[in-house]
Amino acid sequence: MGRSDVLIVGAGPTGLVLALWLTRQGANVRIIDRANEPGTTSRALAVQARTLELYRQLDLTDDVLEKGHKVPGLNLWVQGRKEVRVSLDTLAEGLTPYGPFIYPQDQHERLLTERLATMNIEVERSTELADFQDMGDGIIATLRRPDGQEERCEAAFLAGCDGARSIVRKILGIGFPGGTYQQVFYVADVDAAGPALDGELHIDLDAADFLAVFPLKGEGRARLIGTVRDERAEHPEHLQFEDVSDHAIRHMKVEVRKVNWFSTYRVHHRVTDHFRKARAFLLGDAAHIHSPAGGQGMNTGIGDAINLAWKLQAVLTGRAPATILDTYEAERRAFALKLVATTDRGFTLATAEGRAADFFRTRIVPLVVPTLFRLERARDFMFSAVSQIVIAYHDSTLSAGKAGDVRGGDRLPWVSTASGDNFDTFATIGWQVHVYGTAGAALRDWCTRNNITLNVFGWLASYEDAGLTVDAMYLLRPDTYVALAAEQQDPDSLTRYFSDHRLVL
Ligand SMILES: Cc1cc2nc3c(=O)[nH]c(=O)nc-3n(C[C@H](O)[C@H](O)[C@H](O)COP(=O)(O)OP(=O)(O)OC[C@H]3O[C@@H](n4cnc5c(N)ncnc54)[C@H](O)[C@@H]3O)c2cc1C
Repeated sequence: MGRSDVLIVGAGPTGLVLALWLTRQGANVRIIDRANEPGTTSRALAVQARTLELYRQLDLTDDVLEKGHKVPGLNLWVQGRKEVRVSLDTLAEGLTPYGPFIYPQDQHERLLTERLATMNIEVERSTELADFQDMGDGIIATLRRPDGQEERCEAAFLAGCDGARSIVRKILGIGFPGGTYQQVFYVADVDAAGPALDGELHIDLDAADFLAVFPLKGEGRARLIGTVRDERAEHPEHLQFEDVSDHAIRHMKVEVRKVNWFSTYRVHHRVTDHFRKARAFLLGDAAHIHSPAGGQGMNTGIGDAINLAWKLQAVLTGRAPATILDTYEAERRAFALKLVATTDRGFTLATAEGRAADFFRTRIVPLVVPTLFRLERARDFMFSAVSQIVIAYHDSTLSAGKAGDVRGGDRLPWVSTASGDNFDTFATIGWQVHVYGTAGAALRDWCTRNNITLNVFGWLASYEDAGLTVDAMYLLRPDTYVALAAEQQDPDSLTRYFSDHRLVL
Protein backbone atom coordinates (compact mmCIF):
# COMPACT_ATOMS: atom_id res chain seq x y z
CA MET A 1 0.00 0.00 0.00
CA GLY A 2 1.26 3.51 -0.77
CA ARG A 3 1.87 6.29 1.72
CA SER A 4 -1.31 7.55 3.35
CA ASP A 5 -1.91 11.02 4.69
CA VAL A 6 -2.92 9.87 8.16
CA LEU A 7 -2.60 6.46 9.79
CA ILE A 8 -5.33 6.25 12.42
CA VAL A 9 -4.65 3.72 15.16
CA GLY A 10 -7.88 2.62 16.85
CA ALA A 11 -11.43 2.47 15.53
CA GLY A 12 -13.33 3.49 18.65
CA PRO A 13 -15.54 6.59 18.37
CA THR A 14 -12.53 8.94 18.31
CA GLY A 15 -10.69 7.17 15.46
CA LEU A 16 -13.88 6.68 13.46
CA VAL A 17 -14.85 10.36 13.69
CA LEU A 18 -11.33 11.43 12.74
CA ALA A 19 -11.44 9.10 9.72
CA LEU A 20 -14.84 10.46 8.68
CA TRP A 21 -13.90 14.13 9.00
CA LEU A 22 -10.57 13.68 7.21
CA THR A 23 -12.05 11.60 4.40
CA ARG A 24 -14.88 14.07 3.86
CA GLN A 25 -12.25 16.78 3.37
CA GLY A 26 -10.38 14.67 0.82
CA ALA A 27 -7.55 13.18 2.92
CA ASN A 28 -6.33 9.67 2.27
CA VAL A 29 -6.53 7.75 5.55
CA ARG A 30 -5.89 4.24 6.82
CA ILE A 31 -7.67 3.17 9.98
CA ILE A 32 -6.60 0.02 11.82
CA ASP A 33 -7.84 -1.74 14.94
CA ARG A 34 -6.34 -4.71 16.70
CA ALA A 35 -9.77 -6.06 17.68
CA ASN A 36 -11.29 -8.48 15.21
CA GLU A 37 -14.74 -6.91 15.47
CA PRO A 38 -16.30 -3.62 16.56
CA GLY A 39 -17.16 -3.21 20.28
CA THR A 40 -20.29 -5.13 21.25
CA THR A 41 -20.94 -3.54 24.63
CA SER A 42 -22.86 -0.33 25.19
CA ARG A 43 -20.26 1.62 27.30
CA ALA A 44 -20.71 5.38 26.74
CA LEU A 45 -24.39 6.27 26.56
CA ALA A 46 -24.66 10.05 26.54
CA VAL A 47 -24.32 11.89 23.25
CA GLN A 48 -23.95 15.53 24.23
CA ALA A 49 -25.62 18.41 22.39
CA ARG A 50 -22.28 19.73 21.07
CA THR A 51 -21.56 16.37 19.43
CA LEU A 52 -25.01 16.41 17.81
CA GLU A 53 -24.43 19.96 16.58
CA LEU A 54 -21.08 19.03 15.04
CA TYR A 55 -22.49 15.82 13.55
CA ARG A 56 -24.49 18.06 11.20
CA GLN A 57 -21.25 18.53 9.28
CA LEU A 58 -21.54 14.92 8.11
CA ASP A 59 -25.31 14.65 8.17
CA LEU A 60 -25.14 12.15 11.05
CA THR A 61 -27.36 13.95 13.55
CA ASP A 62 -30.75 12.80 12.28
CA ASP A 63 -29.61 9.16 12.20
CA VAL A 64 -28.44 9.36 15.81
CA LEU A 65 -31.65 11.11 16.89
CA GLU A 66 -33.77 8.50 15.18
CA LYS A 67 -31.95 5.57 16.76
CA GLY A 68 -31.33 6.91 20.27
CA HIS A 69 -33.46 8.00 23.18
CA LYS A 70 -34.31 11.44 24.58
CA VAL A 71 -34.14 11.70 28.37
CA PRO A 72 -37.22 13.64 29.52
CA GLY A 73 -36.58 13.80 33.28
CA LEU A 74 -34.14 13.44 36.17
CA ASN A 75 -35.29 11.80 39.41
CA LEU A 76 -33.54 11.82 42.76
CA TRP A 77 -34.22 9.04 45.28
CA VAL A 78 -33.72 9.08 49.04
CA GLN A 79 -34.43 6.13 51.35
CA GLY A 80 -36.35 4.13 48.79
CA ARG A 81 -38.54 7.07 47.77
CA LYS A 82 -38.53 9.25 44.72
CA GLU A 83 -38.05 12.67 46.36
CA VAL A 84 -37.65 14.96 43.39
CA ARG A 85 -38.34 14.98 39.65
CA VAL A 86 -37.08 17.70 37.38
CA SER A 87 -38.07 17.94 33.74
CA LEU A 88 -35.21 17.91 31.25
CA ASP A 89 -37.56 18.55 28.32
CA THR A 90 -37.00 22.26 28.08
CA LEU A 91 -33.41 22.32 29.31
CA ALA A 92 -31.96 23.08 25.88
CA GLU A 93 -34.52 25.75 24.98
CA GLY A 94 -32.91 28.80 23.40
CA LEU A 95 -29.43 27.28 23.66
CA THR A 96 -29.24 24.37 21.23
CA PRO A 97 -31.71 22.16 19.38
CA TYR A 98 -30.60 19.08 21.36
CA GLY A 99 -31.41 18.07 24.94
CA PRO A 100 -30.03 15.17 27.02
CA PHE A 101 -29.74 12.17 24.73
CA ILE A 102 -28.71 8.53 24.96
CA TYR A 103 -27.34 6.29 22.22
CA PRO A 104 -25.27 3.27 23.28
CA GLN A 105 -21.65 3.27 22.11
CA ASP A 106 -21.77 -0.06 20.26
CA GLN A 107 -24.65 1.14 18.06
CA HIS A 108 -22.98 4.52 17.69
CA GLU A 109 -19.71 2.91 16.49
CA ARG A 110 -21.68 0.74 14.05
CA LEU A 111 -23.32 3.83 12.56
CA LEU A 112 -19.95 5.60 12.17
CA THR A 113 -18.35 2.49 10.62
CA GLU A 114 -21.19 2.12 8.13
CA ARG A 115 -20.94 5.78 7.17
CA LEU A 116 -17.20 5.37 6.64
CA ALA A 117 -17.84 2.35 4.41
CA THR A 118 -20.06 4.51 2.19
CA MET A 119 -16.92 6.62 1.64
CA ASN A 120 -15.02 3.45 0.67
CA ILE A 121 -12.97 3.32 3.85
CA GLU A 122 -12.99 0.00 5.70
CA VAL A 123 -11.52 -0.42 9.16
CA GLU A 124 -8.59 -2.86 8.87
CA ARG A 125 -9.38 -5.24 11.71
CA SER A 126 -7.08 -7.63 13.61
CA THR A 127 -4.33 -5.21 12.63
CA GLU A 128 -2.18 -3.93 15.43
CA LEU A 129 0.30 -1.10 15.59
CA ALA A 130 3.50 -2.70 16.91
CA ASP A 131 5.89 0.22 16.56
CA PHE A 132 6.54 3.43 14.63
CA GLN A 133 9.26 5.93 13.97
CA ASP A 134 8.99 9.60 13.15
CA MET A 135 11.34 10.18 10.20
CA GLY A 136 10.92 13.96 10.19
CA ASP A 137 9.08 14.08 6.86
CA GLY A 138 6.69 11.27 7.75
CA ILE A 139 6.00 8.23 9.88
CA ILE A 140 7.11 4.66 9.27
CA ALA A 141 4.95 2.21 11.20
CA THR A 142 5.16 -1.52 11.78
CA LEU A 143 1.78 -3.21 11.72
CA ARG A 144 1.06 -6.76 12.78
CA ARG A 145 -1.45 -8.27 10.35
CA PRO A 146 -4.09 -10.93 11.16
CA ASP A 147 -1.87 -13.72 9.76
CA GLY A 148 0.95 -12.66 12.12
CA GLN A 149 2.96 -11.07 9.29
CA GLU A 150 4.48 -7.66 9.86
CA GLU A 151 3.92 -4.82 7.42
CA ARG A 152 5.84 -1.56 7.17
CA CYS A 153 3.66 1.33 6.23
CA GLU A 154 4.23 5.02 5.64
CA ALA A 155 2.06 7.98 6.48
CA ALA A 156 2.51 11.72 6.72
CA PHE A 157 0.94 11.76 10.22
CA LEU A 158 -0.09 9.23 12.85
CA ALA A 159 -3.14 9.60 15.09
CA GLY A 160 -3.15 7.59 18.32
CA CYS A 161 -6.85 6.95 19.00
CA ASP A 162 -5.93 3.70 20.70
CA GLY A 163 -7.63 4.11 24.07
CA ALA A 164 -6.48 4.41 27.66
CA ARG A 165 -3.60 1.93 27.34
CA SER A 166 -2.34 3.62 24.18
CA ILE A 167 0.78 2.11 22.67
CA VAL A 168 1.25 5.33 20.68
CA ARG A 169 1.55 7.25 23.96
CA LYS A 170 4.04 4.67 25.27
CA ILE A 171 6.19 4.78 22.13
CA LEU A 172 6.20 8.57 22.30
CA GLY A 173 7.29 8.33 25.94
CA ILE A 174 4.64 10.82 27.05
CA GLY A 175 3.54 10.69 30.70
CA PHE A 176 -0.08 10.11 31.77
CA PRO A 177 -0.19 11.67 35.25
CA GLY A 178 -3.23 11.47 37.50
CA GLY A 179 -4.70 8.90 39.83
CA THR A 180 -7.12 6.03 40.27
CA TYR A 181 -10.33 6.08 42.30
CA GLN A 182 -10.55 3.59 45.14
CA GLN A 183 -14.05 2.56 44.10
CA VAL A 184 -14.77 -0.09 41.53
CA PHE A 185 -17.48 0.81 39.04
CA TYR A 186 -19.94 -1.71 37.77
CA VAL A 187 -22.21 -1.39 34.76
CA ALA A 188 -25.12 -3.64 33.94
CA ASP A 189 -27.47 -3.43 30.99
CA VAL A 190 -30.69 -5.05 32.16
CA ASP A 191 -34.24 -5.90 31.25
CA ALA A 192 -36.16 -4.89 34.35
CA ALA A 193 -39.34 -3.48 35.81
CA GLY A 194 -40.19 -1.02 38.57
CA PRO A 195 -40.78 2.70 39.02
CA ALA A 196 -37.23 3.60 37.92
CA LEU A 197 -37.80 1.92 34.53
CA ASP A 198 -39.92 4.72 33.09
CA GLY A 199 -37.54 6.02 30.40
CA GLU A 200 -36.05 8.69 32.69
CA LEU A 201 -32.77 9.11 34.57
CA HIS A 202 -32.81 8.05 38.24
CA ILE A 203 -30.07 8.72 40.80
CA ASP A 204 -29.97 7.33 44.31
CA LEU A 205 -28.60 9.78 46.87
CA ASP A 206 -28.67 7.41 49.80
CA ALA A 207 -25.39 5.72 50.29
CA ALA A 208 -21.89 6.77 49.46
CA ASP A 209 -22.00 4.11 46.76
CA PHE A 210 -23.12 5.91 43.66
CA LEU A 211 -26.06 4.35 41.81
CA ALA A 212 -27.82 5.58 38.69
CA VAL A 213 -30.40 4.08 36.36
CA PHE A 214 -30.09 5.29 32.76
CA PRO A 215 -32.91 4.61 30.31
CA LEU A 216 -32.16 2.65 27.15
CA LYS A 217 -34.40 2.60 24.09
CA GLY A 218 -37.15 -0.01 24.42
CA GLU A 219 -39.54 -0.73 27.27
CA GLY A 220 -38.00 -2.04 30.49
CA ARG A 221 -34.41 -1.63 29.30
CA ALA A 222 -31.90 0.27 31.40
CA ARG A 223 -28.25 0.67 32.32
CA LEU A 224 -27.35 0.51 35.99
CA ILE A 225 -24.11 2.21 36.98
CA GLY A 226 -22.89 1.85 40.53
CA THR A 227 -19.81 1.78 42.66
CA VAL A 228 -18.58 -0.85 45.07
CA ARG A 229 -16.10 0.12 47.72
CA ASP A 230 -16.04 -2.48 50.51
CA GLU A 231 -14.05 -5.70 50.52
CA ARG A 232 -15.94 -6.77 47.37
CA ALA A 233 -13.92 -4.15 45.47
CA GLU A 234 -10.68 -5.96 46.22
CA HIS A 235 -11.23 -8.57 43.51
CA PRO A 236 -13.61 -6.98 41.02
CA GLU A 237 -12.81 -9.63 38.42
CA HIS A 238 -14.75 -12.17 40.55
CA LEU A 239 -17.81 -9.97 41.00
CA GLN A 240 -21.14 -11.06 39.53
CA PHE A 241 -24.22 -8.87 39.14
CA GLU A 242 -25.81 -10.69 42.11
CA ASP A 243 -22.97 -9.45 44.34
CA VAL A 244 -23.83 -5.80 43.71
CA SER A 245 -27.53 -5.78 42.81
CA ASP A 246 -28.94 -5.56 46.36
CA HIS A 247 -28.50 -1.81 46.42
CA ALA A 248 -30.52 -1.22 43.23
CA ILE A 249 -33.22 -3.64 44.34
CA ARG A 250 -33.52 -2.25 47.86
CA HIS A 251 -33.09 1.44 47.15
CA MET A 252 -34.80 1.90 43.82
CA LYS A 253 -37.06 -1.16 43.66
CA VAL A 254 -35.53 -2.35 40.40
CA GLU A 255 -36.82 -5.85 39.55
CA VAL A 256 -34.17 -7.28 37.27
CA ARG A 257 -35.41 -9.91 34.80
CA LYS A 258 -32.36 -10.39 32.65
CA VAL A 259 -28.79 -9.11 32.73
CA ASN A 260 -27.62 -8.51 29.16
CA TRP A 261 -24.15 -7.21 30.05
CA PHE A 262 -22.25 -6.86 33.28
CA SER A 263 -18.80 -5.46 33.74
CA THR A 264 -16.65 -3.91 36.43
CA TYR A 265 -13.80 -1.50 36.01
CA ARG A 266 -11.59 0.89 37.89
CA VAL A 267 -11.65 4.51 36.83
CA HIS A 268 -8.62 6.71 36.50
CA HIS A 269 -8.39 10.47 36.15
CA ARG A 270 -5.43 11.31 33.96
CA VAL A 271 -4.40 13.76 31.23
CA THR A 272 -1.30 13.25 29.07
CA ASP A 273 1.53 15.74 29.32
CA HIS A 274 1.33 16.32 25.57
CA PHE A 275 -1.28 15.73 22.89
CA ARG A 276 1.28 16.00 20.10
CA LYS A 277 4.87 15.10 19.44
CA ALA A 278 6.05 16.14 15.97
CA ARG A 279 4.01 14.04 13.50
CA ALA A 280 2.14 11.94 16.06
CA PHE A 281 -1.00 12.91 17.98
CA LEU A 282 -2.95 11.54 20.92
CA LEU A 283 -6.74 11.81 20.95
CA GLY A 284 -9.66 10.51 23.03
CA ASP A 285 -9.01 8.11 25.90
CA ALA A 286 -5.37 7.86 24.82
CA ALA A 287 -5.03 11.48 25.96
CA HIS A 288 -7.50 11.84 28.85
CA ILE A 289 -9.60 9.60 31.06
CA HIS A 290 -11.91 10.39 33.96
CA SER A 291 -15.00 9.28 35.84
CA PRO A 292 -17.92 8.37 33.57
CA ALA A 293 -20.23 10.53 35.73
CA GLY A 294 -21.42 13.29 33.43
CA GLY A 295 -21.07 11.29 30.20
CA GLN A 296 -18.14 13.32 28.90
CA GLY A 297 -15.44 10.81 27.87
CA MET A 298 -16.56 9.70 24.45
CA ASN A 299 -17.85 13.15 23.52
CA THR A 300 -14.51 14.70 24.39
CA GLY A 301 -12.70 12.22 22.13
CA ILE A 302 -15.08 13.09 19.30
CA GLY A 303 -14.41 16.79 19.94
CA ASP A 304 -10.65 16.15 19.79
CA ALA A 305 -11.04 14.46 16.40
CA ILE A 306 -13.11 17.28 14.90
CA ASN A 307 -10.66 19.88 16.25
CA LEU A 308 -7.66 18.12 14.70
CA ALA A 309 -9.14 16.97 11.38
CA TRP A 310 -9.36 20.37 9.64
CA LYS A 311 -5.93 21.44 10.86
CA LEU A 312 -4.31 18.25 9.53
CA GLN A 313 -6.08 18.63 6.21
CA ALA A 314 -5.02 22.29 5.93
CA VAL A 315 -1.38 21.30 6.50
CA LEU A 316 -1.59 18.30 4.15
CA THR A 317 -2.88 20.53 1.36
CA GLY A 318 -0.37 23.32 2.02
CA ARG A 319 -3.04 25.78 3.15
CA ALA A 320 -1.64 26.17 6.67
CA PRO A 321 1.82 26.06 8.24
CA ALA A 322 2.65 23.05 10.43
CA THR A 323 2.55 25.35 13.48
CA ILE A 324 -1.25 25.33 13.32
CA LEU A 325 -1.02 21.77 14.65
CA ASP A 326 0.27 23.16 17.96
CA THR A 327 -3.14 24.71 18.51
CA TYR A 328 -4.65 21.21 18.76
CA GLU A 329 -2.80 20.58 22.03
CA ALA A 330 -3.27 24.13 23.29
CA GLU A 331 -7.03 24.03 22.73
CA ARG A 332 -7.91 20.47 23.63
CA ARG A 333 -5.49 19.81 26.51
CA ALA A 334 -6.69 22.95 28.29
CA PHE A 335 -10.25 21.65 28.05
CA ALA A 336 -9.29 18.10 29.13
CA LEU A 337 -7.52 19.43 32.25
CA LYS A 338 -10.57 21.47 33.21
CA LEU A 339 -12.89 18.55 32.54
CA VAL A 340 -10.89 16.06 34.56
CA ALA A 341 -10.72 18.48 37.50
CA THR A 342 -14.50 19.11 37.37
CA THR A 343 -15.56 15.46 37.01
CA ASP A 344 -13.15 14.60 39.82
CA ARG A 345 -14.71 17.19 42.15
CA GLY A 346 -18.25 16.07 41.22
CA PHE A 347 -17.47 12.40 41.67
CA THR A 348 -15.65 12.91 44.96
CA LEU A 349 -18.60 14.90 46.30
CA ALA A 350 -21.13 12.32 45.11
CA THR A 351 -19.29 9.45 46.79
CA ALA A 352 -17.92 11.16 49.92
CA GLU A 353 -18.33 9.16 53.13
CA GLY A 354 -19.32 10.28 56.61
CA ARG A 355 -22.35 11.80 58.30
CA ALA A 356 -21.84 15.31 56.96
CA ALA A 357 -21.59 14.02 53.39
CA ASP A 358 -24.68 11.82 53.89
CA PHE A 359 -26.61 14.79 55.29
CA PHE A 360 -25.59 16.95 52.34
CA ARG A 361 -26.56 14.29 49.79
CA THR A 362 -29.84 13.15 51.30
CA ARG A 363 -31.15 16.42 52.78
CA ILE A 364 -29.55 19.34 51.00
CA VAL A 365 -29.30 18.07 47.43
CA PRO A 366 -33.04 17.19 47.09
CA LEU A 367 -33.87 20.72 48.25
CA VAL A 368 -31.31 22.55 46.17
CA VAL A 369 -31.64 20.71 42.85
CA PRO A 370 -35.28 21.67 42.05
CA THR A 371 -34.49 25.29 42.97
CA LEU A 372 -31.45 25.30 40.69
CA PHE A 373 -33.53 23.88 37.85
CA ARG A 374 -36.15 26.61 38.38
CA LEU A 375 -33.54 29.38 38.10
CA GLU A 376 -32.96 29.98 34.40
CA ARG A 377 -29.36 31.12 34.80
CA ALA A 378 -28.37 28.18 37.00
CA ARG A 379 -30.17 25.74 34.69
CA ASP A 380 -28.50 27.16 31.59
CA PHE A 381 -25.11 27.11 33.32
CA MET A 382 -25.39 23.44 34.32
CA PHE A 383 -26.76 22.30 30.97
CA SER A 384 -24.22 24.30 28.97
CA ALA A 385 -21.35 22.72 30.90
CA VAL A 386 -22.58 19.12 30.64
CA SER A 387 -23.68 19.40 27.01
CA GLN A 388 -20.23 20.80 26.09
CA ILE A 389 -21.74 23.80 24.28
CA VAL A 390 -19.72 26.01 26.59
CA ILE A 391 -16.35 24.78 25.28
CA ALA A 392 -14.39 27.76 23.95
CA TYR A 393 -10.83 28.41 22.85
CA HIS A 394 -10.39 32.01 24.00
CA ASP A 395 -6.68 31.64 24.72
CA SER A 396 -5.87 30.02 21.39
CA THR A 397 -3.61 31.88 18.97
CA LEU A 398 -6.34 31.22 16.37
CA SER A 399 -8.92 33.27 18.30
CA ALA A 400 -9.31 37.00 17.73
CA GLY A 401 -11.74 39.88 18.27
CA LYS A 402 -15.04 40.40 20.02
CA ALA A 403 -18.53 41.45 18.97
CA GLY A 404 -21.00 41.95 21.82
CA ASP A 405 -20.93 38.78 23.93
CA VAL A 406 -19.16 36.69 21.30
CA ARG A 407 -15.38 36.39 21.35
CA GLY A 408 -12.97 34.66 19.04
CA GLY A 409 -12.77 31.03 20.19
CA ASP A 410 -16.45 30.81 21.18
CA ARG A 411 -18.99 28.37 19.87
CA LEU A 412 -21.30 30.41 17.67
CA PRO A 413 -24.60 31.03 19.51
CA TRP A 414 -27.40 28.93 18.08
CA VAL A 415 -30.54 30.71 16.83
CA SER A 416 -33.71 29.73 14.97
CA THR A 417 -34.13 31.41 11.61
CA ALA A 418 -37.03 31.86 9.23
CA SER A 419 -36.12 28.69 7.35
CA GLY A 420 -34.61 26.54 10.11
CA ASP A 421 -31.61 27.55 12.19
CA ASN A 422 -28.18 29.10 11.70
CA PHE A 423 -26.46 25.72 12.19
CA ASP A 424 -27.95 24.58 8.84
CA THR A 425 -24.83 26.23 7.44
CA PHE A 426 -22.62 23.61 9.13
CA ALA A 427 -23.42 21.13 6.35
CA THR A 428 -19.99 21.64 4.79
CA ILE A 429 -16.54 21.69 6.40
CA GLY A 430 -14.86 24.97 5.48
CA TRP A 431 -14.28 28.59 6.45
CA GLN A 432 -17.39 30.79 6.35
CA VAL A 433 -18.57 34.22 7.40
CA HIS A 434 -21.86 34.89 9.20
CA VAL A 435 -23.69 38.21 9.38
CA TYR A 436 -26.94 38.74 11.29
CA GLY A 437 -28.52 41.79 9.71
CA THR A 438 -27.22 43.16 6.42
CA ALA A 439 -23.92 42.43 4.72
CA GLY A 440 -22.30 45.41 3.02
CA ALA A 441 -20.99 45.34 -0.53
CA ALA A 442 -17.32 45.33 0.54
CA LEU A 443 -17.76 42.21 2.65
CA ARG A 444 -19.79 40.49 -0.08
CA ASP A 445 -17.12 41.32 -2.59
CA TRP A 446 -14.31 40.05 -0.30
CA CYS A 447 -16.10 36.74 0.26
CA THR A 448 -16.73 36.26 -3.48
CA ARG A 449 -13.11 37.06 -4.37
CA ASN A 450 -11.80 34.68 -1.71
CA ASN A 451 -14.33 31.97 -2.47
CA ILE A 452 -15.59 31.90 1.11
CA THR A 453 -19.25 31.30 1.88
CA LEU A 454 -21.09 34.30 3.30
CA ASN A 455 -24.26 33.46 5.25
CA VAL A 456 -26.55 36.38 5.96
CA PHE A 457 -29.55 36.10 8.29
CA GLY A 458 -32.16 38.87 8.42
CA TRP A 459 -31.98 40.43 11.90
CA LEU A 460 -34.49 39.34 14.55
CA ALA A 461 -34.71 40.87 18.05
CA SER A 462 -34.29 37.39 19.58
CA TYR A 463 -30.74 37.18 18.18
CA GLU A 464 -29.62 39.77 20.70
CA ASP A 465 -30.73 37.51 23.59
CA ALA A 466 -28.51 34.78 22.14
CA GLY A 467 -25.52 37.16 22.27
CA LEU A 468 -25.32 38.16 18.59
CA THR A 469 -24.83 41.75 17.42
CA VAL A 470 -26.64 43.28 14.49
CA ASP A 471 -24.46 43.59 11.35
CA ALA A 472 -21.39 42.23 13.16
CA MET A 473 -19.08 39.88 11.27
CA TYR A 474 -18.25 36.36 12.49
CA LEU A 475 -15.55 34.38 10.73
CA LEU A 476 -16.05 30.66 11.46
CA ARG A 477 -13.31 28.03 11.31
CA PRO A 478 -13.94 24.74 9.50
CA ASP A 479 -14.88 23.16 12.88
CA THR A 480 -17.53 25.92 13.29
CA TYR A 481 -15.84 27.76 16.21
CA VAL A 482 -15.59 31.55 15.90
CA ALA A 483 -12.12 32.48 14.62
CA LEU A 484 -12.67 36.23 14.46
CA ALA A 485 -15.56 38.33 15.74
CA ALA A 486 -15.84 42.02 14.83
CA GLU A 487 -18.56 44.59 15.41
CA GLN A 488 -17.72 46.29 12.11
CA GLN A 489 -17.70 44.56 8.74
CA ASP A 490 -14.09 45.12 7.88
CA PRO A 491 -12.81 42.89 5.05
CA ASP A 492 -9.25 44.10 5.76
CA SER A 493 -9.38 42.44 9.17
CA LEU A 494 -10.28 39.17 7.44
CA THR A 495 -7.33 39.53 5.08
CA ARG A 496 -5.09 40.29 8.07
CA TYR A 497 -6.41 37.26 9.99
CA PHE A 498 -5.51 34.88 7.16
CA SER A 499 -2.12 36.46 6.48
CA ASP A 500 -1.16 36.70 10.20
CA HIS A 501 -1.83 32.98 10.56
CA ARG A 502 -0.27 32.19 7.17
CA LEU A 503 -3.52 30.52 6.10
CA VAL A 504 -4.39 30.15 2.45
CA LEU A 505 -8.01 29.97 1.44
C1 LIG B 1 -17.67 -0.01 30.97
C2 LIG B 1 -17.50 1.37 30.40
C3 LIG B 1 -18.53 2.30 30.53
C4 LIG B 1 -18.36 3.59 30.05
N1 LIG B 1 -19.38 4.49 30.17
C5 LIG B 1 -19.21 5.74 29.67
C6 LIG B 1 -20.27 6.71 29.71
O1 LIG B 1 -21.37 6.45 30.23
N2 LIG B 1 -20.05 7.95 29.15
C7 LIG B 1 -18.85 8.27 28.54
O2 LIG B 1 -18.70 9.38 28.00
N3 LIG B 1 -17.85 7.38 28.49
C8 LIG B 1 -18.00 6.13 29.03
N4 LIG B 1 -17.00 5.23 28.94
C9 LIG B 1 -15.77 5.67 28.29
C10 LIG B 1 -15.90 5.56 26.79
O3 LIG B 1 -16.24 4.25 26.44
C11 LIG B 1 -14.57 6.01 26.20
O4 LIG B 1 -14.36 7.35 26.59
C12 LIG B 1 -14.56 5.89 24.69
O5 LIG B 1 -14.66 4.56 24.28
C13 LIG B 1 -13.24 6.48 24.18
O6 LIG B 1 -13.18 6.28 22.81
P1 LIG B 1 -11.79 6.16 22.08
O7 LIG B 1 -12.15 5.96 20.65
O8 LIG B 1 -10.92 7.29 22.45
O9 LIG B 1 -11.08 4.85 22.68
P2 LIG B 1 -11.59 3.34 22.68
O10 LIG B 1 -13.07 3.26 22.56
O11 LIG B 1 -10.92 2.70 23.84
O12 LIG B 1 -10.99 2.75 21.32
C14 LIG B 1 -9.62 2.44 21.20
C15 LIG B 1 -9.48 1.42 20.07
O13 LIG B 1 -8.10 1.26 19.80
C16 LIG B 1 -7.83 -0.11 19.55
N5 LIG B 1 -6.40 -0.35 19.82
C17 LIG B 1 -5.75 -0.30 21.00
N6 LIG B 1 -4.44 -0.53 20.83
C18 LIG B 1 -4.24 -0.75 19.51
C19 LIG B 1 -3.08 -1.04 18.71
N7 LIG B 1 -1.87 -1.17 19.26
N8 LIG B 1 -3.24 -1.21 17.39
C20 LIG B 1 -4.48 -1.08 16.81
N9 LIG B 1 -5.60 -0.80 17.53
C21 LIG B 1 -5.48 -0.63 18.86
C22 LIG B 1 -8.77 -0.85 20.50
O14 LIG B 1 -9.05 -2.16 20.02
C23 LIG B 1 -10.02 0.04 20.46
O15 LIG B 1 -10.95 -0.37 19.49
C24 LIG B 1 -17.15 3.95 29.42
C25 LIG B 1 -16.12 3.00 29.28
C26 LIG B 1 -16.29 1.72 29.77
C27 LIG B 1 -15.18 0.72 29.61
